Amino acid sequence: MNNLVTILYIIAFSMFIYGLMGLTGPKTAVRGNYIAGWGMVLAIVATLIDIRDTNNWWIIIAGLVVGCVLGIPPALRTKMTAVPQLVAMFNGVGGGTVALIAWSEFVTSSGFSNLDDTPNVHIIVGSLFAAIIGSISFWGSVIAFAKLQELIGGHSISFGRAQQPLNALLLIAAIAFSVVIGIGAGTGGVSQWWIVGVLVAAGVLGLMVVLPIGGADMPVVISLLNALTGLSAAAAGLALNNTAMIVAGMIVGASGTILTNLMAKAMNRSIISIVAGGFGGGSGEAGPASASGGTVKATSAADAAIQMAYANQVIVVPGYGMAVAQAQHAVKEMAGMLEAKGVEVKYAIHPVAGRMPGHMNVLLAEAEVSYDALKEMDDINGEFGRTDVVLVIGANDVTNPAARSDPNSPIFGMPILNVDQAKSVIVLKRSMSSGFAGIDNPLFTATGTSMLFGDAKKSVGEVTEELKAL
Ligand code: NDP
Repeated sequence: MNNLVTILYIIAFSMFIYGLMGLTGPKTAVRGNYIAGWGMVLAIVATLIDIRDTNNWWIIIAGLVVGCVLGIPPALRTKMTAVPQLVAMFNGVGGGTVALIAWSEFVTSSGFSNLDDTPNVHIIVGSLFAAIIGSISFWGSVIAFAKLQELIGGHSISFGRAQQPLNALLLIAAIAFSVVIGIGAGTGGVSQWWIVGVLVAAGVLGLMVVLPIGGADMPVVISLLNALTGLSAAAAGLALNNTAMIVAGMIVGASGTILTNLMAKAMNRSIISIVAGGFGGGSGEAGPASASGGTVKATSAADAAIQMAYANQVIVVPGYGMAVAQAQHAVKEMAGMLEAKGVEVKYAIHPVAGRMPGHMNVLLAEAEVSYDALKEMDDINGEFGRTDVVLVIGANDVTNPAARSDPNSPIFGMPILNVDQAKSVIVLKRSMSSGFAGIDNPLFTATGTSMLFGDAKKSVGEVTEELKAL
């Protein structure tokens, strides 16, 4: 039976890896997700076979029922714009589970004093590491969820200069309590209060680290917490001698770390500066009106339609506003009208457009925009100079030329889409408000730019109606 369990675990984590490979492209992503999901089902079956002699079947069944009831409905119902908080919640649950596993290991082994395995240092260190990181991840994710769901303000909540010393104190406390447990393991174990102390100190640390981070930086923080959850799961797998947990935990840990790095790089910011708080301390919604003082040229749906209908090439630049307006289907319809008139339509995708990696790809894939029409930043940037019309739909920071030209700009150095190099630019947004970074965008007052004010979905719909009439 043990061999069967091992074989099932190997098949399960092979499916995780194969599924993850599918997530590298929109065409294979859905299939990849299913494969990894079935891999998880197999891992659960293997675990149930492994613990078949247990007397606690009712607890296991109750856990499965509660998990399904709490997990499936939000996963089915959540809107695209709320996916970051859903991910935060799922990630937090993973971290919390790992922390509880560590606690249970402590209790069942009487404070790690009567473990079956010798040497057993990996069980003790693995469990304590899992307790600390899992607890940080759970409580950090709870705050990330609450901020994104606007249950608490998205703004930065900090304890000023006391913040860093307080955080250091909590970390030292969690490690010190763990050392006491480790030493006690050889001498008959210590009171359960020590592991509770580890979980509480690490949990408060998780709260304290995430509270000062602005709501708009949360996607990066969630990715970081996700990486931590993976590492804690791998540590718990080491303690439980569970290969599937070790492999799955390491995959999550490694991919979360890579993703966090990529996001930080695309924003030209260090992970440290994000965790320490900085720009993006707002809720992620538009900031105050632009104060750039330049002349703003407003246009109408009719003029925008005429301009695009007579262009050779139109590049659509989607951003967070397209996600808010849920304009992707309307955009696809408008592009179809243009293509019918012989205009070539491409989509320029900035890696951090929107509020999560791949946000624009997912929305446009949902609207069944051909994947071949989606161009990555590096591939399309050379084309703007020879493009007649660029249609910026709810994008702001990712098109801000100040990132290229103004060394004093907070986003100076962030790679952007060079839309200002096109012959003409039409920007669809509701007002002159700033985007995520809370800064002016000189593109909006540039000579070649005109603004089509209004909700993106409504504006695109009006342009499509005008195109039909041409
Ligand atoms: P921005 O946040 O810079 O701008 C979005 C714009 O959309 C706003 O200026 C807003 O203007 C407009 N908008 C909002 N709602 C609507 C609507 N209903 N209709 C029309 N327009 C609307 O978005 P970008 O995509 O350009 O840039 C993403 C930003 O998020 C970057 O700064 C990036 O660093 C950051 N970020 C991205 C992450 C990611 O993984 N993708 C993660 C964390 C941060 P108005 O109010 O006038 O309509």
